[in-house]
Amino acid sequence: MHQLTLAGIARGLADKSFSSEELTRALLQRIHQLDPQLNSFISITDELAIAQAKAADARRAAGESGALLGAPIAHKDLFCTQGVRTSCGSKMLDSFTSPYDATVVARLAEAGTVTLGKTNMDEFAMGSANESSHYGAVKNPWNLEHVPGGSSGGSAAAVAARLLPAATGTDTGGSIRQPAALTSLTGLKPTYGRVSRWGMIAYASSLDQGGPMARTAEDCALLLQGMAGFDPKDSTSIDEPVPDYSASLNGSLQGLRIGLPKEYFGAGLDPRIADLVQASVKELEKLGAVIKEISLPNMQHAIPAYYVIAPAEASSNLSRFDGVRFGYRCENPRDLTDLYKRSRGEGFGSEVQRRIMVGTYALSAGYYDAYYLKAQKIRRLIKNDFMAAFEGVDVILGPTTPNLAWKIGAKNADPVAEYLEDVYTITANLAGLPGLSMPAGFVDGLPVGVQLLAPYFQEGRLLNVAHQYQQVTDWHTRVPNGF
Ligand code: GLN
Repeated sequence: MHQLTLAGIARGLADKSFSSEELTRALLQRIHQLDPQLNSFISITDELAIAQAKAADARRAAGESGALLGAPIAHKDLFCTQGVRTSCGSKMLDSFTSPYDATVVARLAEAGTVTLGKTNMDEFAMGSANESSHYGAVKNPWNLEHVPGGSSGGSAAAVAARLLPAATGTDTGGSIRQPAALTSLTGLKPTYGRVSRWGMIAYASSLDQGGPMARTAEDCALLLQGMAGFDPKDSTSIDEPVPDYSASLNGSLQGLRIGLPKEYFGAGLDPRIADLVQASVKELEKLGAVIKEISLPNMQHAIPAYYVIAPAEASSNLSRFDGVRFGYRCENPRDLTDLYKRSRGEGFGSEVQRRIMVGTYALSAGYYDAYYLKAQKIRRLIKNDFMAAFEGVDVILGPTTPNLAWKIGAKNADPVAEYLEDVYTITANLAGLPGLSMPAGFVDGLPVGVQLLAPYFQEGRLLNVAHQYQQVTDWHTRVPNGF
């Protein structure tokens, strides 16, 4: 049963091949048995899962239907879940139990999903390797010595290892697409504003966006359907109707114009990844797509701009963790200043502290214009590049990551080396555009992803292209050894 996709589970539940409770018990057992190798879960919510599965079975027995009714999933541990610890991968929130559900959690629960647990992540979603978690590094099921990517690395490893069919993730600079690429999953970062951020612990509010991680585009369509939509509680949520994503999967790709940015294929890209990207282009051409070379001239400025804007927003968002209101508090503070200093110094890990310092510096009087304002101007130029490119193409295609999943620890001494891994993903966040990563092959047994970007609210187009590609390739069906 653990090999089933969400779509397969929906069929099995509908024709009564198994109940949600049976499936949930089987997957929980598998998680308890196999997750110690991966460390992909921070909390396993057995009781909640069984109760939700029983409720879903009762709803089906009463005549209700729905693709997600009774489907087991997990949430990245920054989505607030009522009555369950929501740690954000940090010692700061190790003892925090949320009093309410995030909108995404509530909507998916209403659709009938079963929450198996909360997945491991980089602390406060800062990272590309899932090594900065207070709960330890997550291992890549394709090679346990390698990172699964981050920051949604727990969701990625768990889904890739067939511990469950799908999970939620969030993407501020690539944290859905990059771990999806490094673990051979399909992951979608929606348009900014498509999925509510209410109850999602904030990292960089103008960039953060929740989305689905699954093995197929078809499953991402199902999960996104349950997540997307206007939410009056999130002031940046956009009141646009949500299309039927599953209905868009089967469109023909005849005449689809795919842009390949020339800047994507320069130095810094592993040539073996470049070859697989070209192979995916050939497949899409066979399906009728037309390839055009395009240019995104300001791409080279994206990493410096992002690593000013994201830490700046983080420094502001994380000021709420002060040892007073909630979260970790140091022992025996001498006075208020000592309480702030030690609570934050002991509660946050080193990468989070680095980002808070960089962000505070970039926002400080005298440096604001030089760094933050300049970064915002670059952000606009990057958006303008995309708007110009989308005049002539329907989607943009390229690698998701410049390198394969690296060995755990290999980049620890050099944070900038890790930041450079985000080169292909962060531009979509800066511009607010939707992006998807899909499996496109393997090098030395490690997965490679191809990224597709589309204009605002064209998630359906991304899912359509990925689904058609997955009808003629089988990379997404490969299973890591031992799982
Ligand atoms: N790697 C990027 C960062 O560390 C992106 C993380 C994310 O998308 N949450 O900021």
